[in-house]
Amino acid sequence: MSTYNGIDISLLKRVLLLESKKGYNDGTIYGGGLDDFICNWLNTNKPKLGSSLRAAKFKSLRLDNPGYSGKNLSGRKGWIEEVLRWLDELEAGRLATEVQTRDEPELEKPRPVKNISPVAGEHADLDLPATVIKGIGDDTAKKFARLGLRTVRDLLYFFPRRFLDFSQRRAISELETGKDQTIFAIVWEAHVTRLGRMKSTEAVLGDETGNIRAVWFNQPYVARQLKTNSHIAVSGRVNEFNYTKVFENPEWELFEDKDLVHTGRLIPVYPLTQGLFPRGVRTIVKRAVDGYAGSLEEFVPRPIRDRCGLMELPSAIAQAHYPDDYLSQNRSRQRLAFDELFLLQLGVLGRKREWQEDQPGHKFNIDNEYIAGFVKRLPFALTGAQKRTIKEILGDLGREVPMSRLLQGDVGSGKTVVATVALLAAVANGYQGAFMAPTEILAEQHFSTLYKLMSAVSSDVERESSIYTFRGFPQADLTIALLTGSLSARDKAKIHQRTGEGRINILIGTHALIQKEVNFEKLGLVVIDEQHRFGVLQRSALRQKGFNPHLLVMTATPIPRTLALTLYGDLDISTINEMPPGRQTIKTRWLKQVDRERAYRFIRKQVVEGRQTFIICPLIEESENLDVKAAVAEYENLSGTVFPDLKLGLLHGRMKGAEKEGVMHDFKDGKLDILVSTSVVEVGIDVPNATVMLVEAADRFGLAQLHQFRGRVGRGEKQSYCMLLSENPSEYGQERLKAIEEISDGFLLAEKDLELRGPGEFFGTRQSGLPDLKMAKLSDTQLLEIARREAKILFEEDPGLKSPEHQAIARELKGYAKLPYG
Ligand code: ADP
Ligand code: MG
Repeated sequence: MSTYNGIDISLLKRVLLLESKKGYNDGTIYGGGLDDFICNWLNTNKPKLGSSLRAAKFKSLRLDNPGYSGKNLSGRKGWIEEVLRWLDELEAGRLATEVQTRDEPELEKPRPVKNISPVAGEHADLDLPATVIKGIGDDTAKKFARLGLRTVRDLLYFFPRRFLDFSQRRAISELETGKDQTIFAIVWEAHVTRLGRMKSTEAVLGDETGNIRAVWFNQPYVARQLKTNSHIAVSGRVNEFNYTKVFENPEWELFEDKDLVHTGRLIPVYPLTQGLFPRGVRTIVKRAVDGYAGSLEEFVPRPIRDRCGLMELPSAIAQAHYPDDYLSQNRSRQRLAFDELFLLQLGVLGRKREWQEDQPGHKFNIDNEYIAGFVKRLPFALTGAQKRTIKEILGDLGREVPMSRLLQGDVGSGKTVVATVALLAAVANGYQGAFMAPTEILAEQHFSTLYKLMSAVSSDVERESSIYTFRGFPQADLTIALLTGSLSARDKAKIHQRTGEGRINILIGTHALIQKEVNFEKLGLVVIDEQHRFGVLQRSALRQKGFNPHLLVMTATPIPRTLALTLYGDLDISTINEMPPGRQTIKTRWLKQVDRERAYRFIRKQVVEGRQTFIICPLIEESENLDVKAAVAEYENLSGTVFPDLKLGLLHGRMKGAEKEGVMHDFKDGKLDILVSTSVVEVGIDVPNATVMLVEAADRFGLAQLHQFRGRVGRGEKQSYCMLLSENPSEYGQERLKAIEEISDGFLLAEKDLELRGPGEFFGTRQSGLPDLKMAKLSDTQLLEIARREAKILFEEDPGLKSPEHQAIARELKGYAKLPYG
């Protein structure tokens, strides 16, 4: 929590940031809106704000009567930015307090920052507790620990959130009002003044061009430190009163032959916690950098650094905290981001090697005639993208090393056929295939798709519960079976037995496939659909059922390449970037409240024509309970008042699995006209007869999710529609709605999403367990490619990282955070 003088700044900040994220619609605070909230905040904190209340800056903000609700969009935006800037200044401690300086450790003689080079031979131990640094006693150590900082190394890698640019040095006569500037001056005189009950410091500073006044409100102790004739550096904004310029509560430090820590350069702004203050933290981190950065081990070998133009590690760390300029700061970030991505890639590629080289896999003989025999009997021609991905997959299957491949393709792009070809390649080689889906409905759907595809080849089908045998399938009989939790015990047992005997060629199912009763005779290929919905353990459990089977995972959630390589770096990626011909684009429209009646009339018309509709209820952040409540209310309203004569169903997250599956089935079987649902509606569910998707409060959903919703319709021949209701979306919400109206390609949308949200906030990355990247951004595509290339070269040169010059990398890798994908 960031506090200033006991004021909770972070709360106000969070509220303001949220408000700006929501597009300044004054929707952040319920009830009296932002105006009320601000006034309350001010009233609570007035006594503590003390002197800063008198500052011109504060007065211009009018926190006592902001009139936020009455401002127009740009007025609101501008005002919030001003307040945030003011809070930053408060926080950055330019309005220092007594508490703060009492804690302030004495400055010591620093070492130069620039060009810190590795210390040859002896290395200081960076895993020593932070208390080895002067100024960190046990108390302070506890506060640092709250930020997760315990060792010297932690401090070196504790990067500033941003910088204050105090690099603009001016002669006093050149000072301009309203800008951050720095002067180097001599203290003419300094004394304590009294304004009411408050004691402050006032000083006159001079250089060869003139004099200027500086005031530190409520900080009488500053006067004691400003001895006449001492040299001082002062940084901050200059204000003007009665035609005289004055520095108000500037950052300052006395200087002799020391590095500047608080003024005169780019000054780091660190995250803080209760009891830690900017000046103190800066001083301590500076000591850590000066004393220990040189002991950091340069683990990236010289040839790599040269090839990639990377700064040396000790300098990069030094420049990350106290950069010479923005250029050096950027180079330092590049180097440190490279380290993160390089280690990440070494980790995932290393794991892939392990998986592939531990034990050799099964080299399939690719019988092109067999495959062609299947393909030419399909009721459609494969798209170019399907052919290409099939070729990539068959290429993998024909090799000794087990395949590890991700098949990405938008909803409806035809991944199942591609997977089927791979499964048939296994079968043709005398191996079994397993096809796992996250829910019963999806498993059944795959089963029936396979059934359709297979029966186009052989119509002589023998059925025994959920075991189907296609007689004389291109060359020999082929048996596929569906195994789900809801089968009878007898049917399950039958499938278990036959799978063990190798009499089932392709087994399709839910996680029932990974139960211990399931033993394959000869499992050669595992296909996992919607792989992100399975845990790492579930995936490896299925893998273990075979002797190093090939693995194909599929996803319909398109992700940009950087993210894919970061998340699934150990997988090769195949992308289906083309839809089967003749697919209609789904007409997508953003609608307002006034269009609601029309939307309902439209739905009714579609129902009369025999079509079905999904209605997605608003997402209520923070509470699944509220989501459910809203969905129930919506369902009651719709079925009671709007569509009393139609058949409606309800689906939400609090329903039991079987209940959910039941409702989905009814909808799929056409027993329901309209399905009212929370966002739980299944990914990948195929109801060709559904042509309308209506999303309530659509601006609350992310682009990826809206795209998934939209993918629920348009799966048949009929023109389909996606209606997005949103009355008053934020600016960011509007951009998303416009994007989804215009863009139908999932990959383009994903790129757009990344662009709109900015790195780090991309959907899924949080849940995906992506390691904490401090410096690297998801938009660092180029750097990622470079890191991946270098990781590959390194493994080619030295697969086991055995050579002496790679020992440092091996050590670093061991200490590296857990990897995302297993
Ligand atoms: P998804 O990639 O979403 O899993 P599916 O594999 O379920 O997509 O395919 C969606 C539908 O498109 C299925 O009915 C499938 O039979 C059909 N399909 C697949 N490939 C083609 C193609 N090349 N031409 C026409 N229809 C195709
Ligand atoms: Mg699918």
